[in-house]
Amino acid sequence: MESYNSFHVAQKQVAEAAKLLNLDRATVELLSYPQREFSCTLPVKMDDGSVKIFHAYRIQYNFARGPAKGGIRFHPDETVDIIRALASWMTWKTAVVDLPLGGGKGGVVCDPKKLSERELENLSRAYIRAVAEYIGPEKDIPAPDVYTNPQTMAWMMDEYETIVHRHQPGVFTDKPLQIGGTEGRRDATARGGVTTVREACKILDVNPHGRYAIQGFGNAGQRAALLHEEILGGGKLVAVSDSRGAIYNPDGFNPKDLVTHKLTTGTVRSFPGAQQISHEEILELDVDVLYPAALENAISELNAEKIKAKIVCELANGPTTPEADLILFRKGVHVIPDILASAGGVTVSYFEMVQDSYSYFWDEDLVHKRLDQKLTKAYHSVQQAMVQKRVHPRLAAMVVGVARVAEACKLRGWV
Ligand code: GLU
Repeated sequence: MESYNSFHVAQKQVAEAAKLLNLDRATVELLSYPQREFSCTLPVKMDDGSVKIFHAYRIQYNFARGPAKGGIRFHPDETVDIIRALASWMTWKTAVVDLPLGGGKGGVVCDPKKLSERELENLSRAYIRAVAEYIGPEKDIPAPDVYTNPQTMAWMMDEYETIVHRHQPGVFTDKPLQIGGTEGRRDATARGGVTTVREACKILDVNPHGRYAIQGFGNAGQRAALLHEEILGGGKLVAVSDSRGAIYNPDGFNPKDLVTHKLTTGTVRSFPGAQQISHEEILELDVDVLYPAALENAISELNAEKIKAKIVCELANGPTTPEADLILFRKGVHVIPDILASAGGVTVSYFEMVQDSYSYFWDEDLVHKRLDQKLTKAYHSVQQAMVQKRVHPRLAAMVVGVARVAEACKLRGWV
């Protein structure tokens, strides 16, 4: 995993899309780097009385279409280049679903599994004290990402409002419902992804009730399992994994039981009666749909040749390397790229911002309906670009996203 620099991957993807779009040199250079970056050190009081220093970042990649938007992750292996890459991908993601937003991302280098609830709260508040000046509903709107959640957003919003002395819920999204969150945000990433699978099954003639596997069983992975029945009318979940292990059952798992087990024990590994498989094997199973829902670079040139899934729906950010994209395309595997497949989360985040701005909240059905419309439309615009340009789906999605951002830069007179 370490051998790939995700930011170089992201830059390469921009360069390829720019070439197909015949963009001028200045535009390509502008879109190849973040517009603004912050790095800071956060002193945090630990439960034992000691003080620990954490390194943290917020990267605002592009503002041409609107304020920066993207999650904050807490992860021990975080690097500034990973966050640059993730901020770049957020920029194309918001553009692919046509939201009036730019892209950004934040991160704190830490192992949240080793921090107490109080230490996590202290860390979240310290992060906001460091970046408060640079975020806001009209500047940059963070949200959860890997190992952060609505509780993290609640602490962060509280710290922010304390600093600015005013009610300002729209500064964060995916907040708890009671304090300005929206219906339908918790399962939005998965709902968007499964919706794109539904559209892909129609075009490709793949059985929507077939076998599927989920690599990574955090929020997005769990919700995808629970939504298969509702959106696709069924399907057999034959394998799941998390950071501690992977399990397989050819007869299919009951998604609800698996989620309950994960939430009570912290892992899927110990699920009764399941066959243990390796982290490599889960990606190589003979399934109709594979959901990579963990971290970057899971599918590379080392294993792409062995992927047997008909559809790969990327709920994670950056799970496939550029080399693997070419291999999968040649093999006829239909990849629904992250900037499309995982765009449901930020789409409902945008709906949350809209509701916060006029303090009037929609019911769940309306959120679901509007999310479905956005993702269905985005899927078909990417599909159309793929046919027109004769390129693999990620490049097609990049072409759609980069073209929209480049146009906004031009209209503003930047290039
Ligand atoms: N972290 C999510 C993503 O990568 C959501 C971002 C957001 O809602 O701003 O898409």
